[in-house]
Amino acid sequence: MEDCIFCKIASGEIQGLRIYENDETLAFMDIAGDVDGHILVIPKKHCKNILDCDSETLSAVANTVKMVSDHLTKNCGYDGVNILNASDESAGQSVPHFHIHIIPRKRDDGIDAWPIFEGAKEDIQTVFDKVKM
Ligand code: AMP
Ligand code: ZN
Repeated sequence: MEDCIFCKIASGEIQGLRIYENDETLAFMDIAGDVDGHILVIPKKHCKNILDCDSETLSAVANTVKMVSDHLTKNCGYDGVNILNASDESAGQSVPHFHIHIIPRKRDDGIDAWPIFEGAKEDIQTVFDKVKM
């Protein structure tokens, strides 16, 4: 897609630090510099987010997330990973090309990668009645 920064990284038009790629997906370093080892996994085919993503593409992205996570923990000295995604601006998505964040973790690294929520406004049963499928 024209004017999509992650499409340009996928095609090589914009440089990225490419950790792993296959026909469908690419894993590369996030440039935020906010936490050590911040990695993004994207589909090479443009889709905005998980709500806009076909199951084949989603499955390819999930498999690459798993492969990179296994590599980080088996070969790179990490103990675990946080897997994060924002789908839609309402959820905090800032780049409108589907991406999964991988944050490699070490025991006692002191990283706070989990949001501290401020308390639910609706009771659990009310939300359950609304969302049950
Ligand atoms: P999100 O807020 O979930 O949409 O995350 C977007 C992420 O893309 C942020 O962590 C940015 O640091 C990252 N980002 C934006 N531009 C680039 C780029 N050119 N190369 C690598 N990461 C990028
Ligand atoms: Zn794109």
